[in-house]
Amino acid sequence: MKTPKKPDFEVLEFGGHTYHRHKKDRDVLRGTLEFPSQENHIDRIVPGFPQIQRVYRLKEGVERLFGNEVFFAEEKLDGYNARIFQHQGGLLAATRGGFICPFTTEWASIWKKDKNLDSFFRDYPEHVLCGEVIGDNPYNWQRDPNMAPGAHFFIFEITAPDGNFLPPEERYRITADYGLPGVPKMGQHSAARLEKLYELMRELNDRGREGVVLKDAAGGKRLKFVTPTTDLQDLKDALQIGFDLSSGFFFNRYLRASVFIKELGLNQDEYASRIGWAFLDGCPDPENFKQAGEKYTIYVQSENTWKALCEQLKSKVLIACDSKKEVRILGRKMLRIDFRRIYQKSTQRYRKILRGHLHKD
Ligand code: ATP
Repeated sequence: MKTPKKPDFEVLEFGGHTYHRHKKDRDVLRGTLEFPSQENHIDRIVPGFPQIQRVYRLKEGVERLFGNEVFFAEEKLDGYNARIFQHQGGLLAATRGGFICPFTTEWASIWKKDKNLDSFFRDYPEHVLCGEVIGDNPYNWQRDPNMAPGAHFFIFEITAPDGNFLPPEERYRITADYGLPGVPKMGQHSAARLEKLYELMRELNDRGREGVVLKDAAGGKRLKFVTPTTDLQDLKDALQIGFDLSSGFFFNRYLRASVFIKELGLNQDEYASRIGWAFLDGCPDPENFKQAGEKYTIYVQSENTWKALCEQLKSKVLIACDSKKEVRILGRKMLRIDFRRIYQKSTQRYRKILRGHLHKD
C-alpha cells in the first residue's frame, strides 16, 4: 500500500483569516498562500515569489540569458521581500516564506493611504504588489541612513491574477499612473553595449549600493548581479553571527567579489586590502564581546503588532526588547521599539574561543 503523500503546506491563522503556507518548492512555489473557503475550496491563491538566479560573470551571464535582446536594469534594493494583496476588503502582506507578517501588514495600511495603494487595489483587486521593504524593519538591521524613519515599500513586480508578472514597461506605466513607489529604473541595456552596464555597476559599487536585477521585456527572464562593496559589508557584518550561518555564506561572497573585481577591472591592491579588512573588522572584539547579536529599530502603531511579530520572530532566534517609546513620525503617533536578535550558537562558540577553550578543529 502506498503511504499517502504528506501535504507540503501548514495551516496558519492571521487576524481571523485561515491560510495555507507552502513550505517547499514542489508542485507550487515555496511561500505560496492559499485561502480556503468554508467548504474547503481554495478561494484565493497568492503565488510565491520565484528565485532570481545570480550570475557571477556579467558578460557571459547576460549573453546566455538575453542573447541579443534588449533588457531592463533596475536597482536591487537591500531589504526584504513583501507581497501585498487585498483579501476580503483589507490589505495583507506576506513575507518571502509565505507568512502573513503583522509588521508589514500594519505598514501596508499606512502605505495604502500615503503611497496610493488604495487607488491601485480599487482598480486591480486581484493583483499582487511585490516589492522590497527598506528602512526601519525587523528583518534587516543595516538601514540606509538617507531614508526617513519608518519602513518604506518599493514595487519591483506586479503579479496578475493568472500568476504571471506584468512586463516591466506595463508595470512602469501603472506605477507612474497611480503614483506608486517603484524601485529605481536604471535604463535599457544589451549585451552589445556592455560597457554601459559595467559603468552602471562601477557607479553603484562606489555608492555602496547592492546591485541590479536585469529583466527582459516580456517579464519572464531575470537575473541578479551584486557589487563587491555589498559583499564585503555582508562579510564584515555577518562574521560575529557566523556560526549560525552556513560556511557557503562566506565562501560565495568572497568568490563573487573577486570575480567581479577582475571582470570590472577594479584596483586589485585596493580590494586585497578591503577584503582583508572586512574580515578583521568583522571579528568580535576580544575585550568587549558579550553576545552575538544584531540591533534593530522598528516603528509600529499598535503594541499588539509588536507582540504578534515577536511571536513569529521568537520561533527562530532569541529576542531581547531594549526600549519602547512613543514618538511622532510621518505625521502619526507611533511606538518606537529597539530590540536585539541574539544568536546562541555564535555567542557560545565565541565565548569559548575568547576564554581560551581548547578546540578540535
Ligand atoms: P532568491 O531566492 O531570489 O535568490 P535571496 O533571499 O537569495 O532570494 P537576494 O539574493 O537578496 O535574495 O535576491 C533576490 C531578492 O532581491 C528578491 O527576492 C527581492 O526581494 C529583492 N529585490 C530587490 N530589488 C529588486 C528588483 N528591482 N527586482 C526584483 N527583486 C528585487
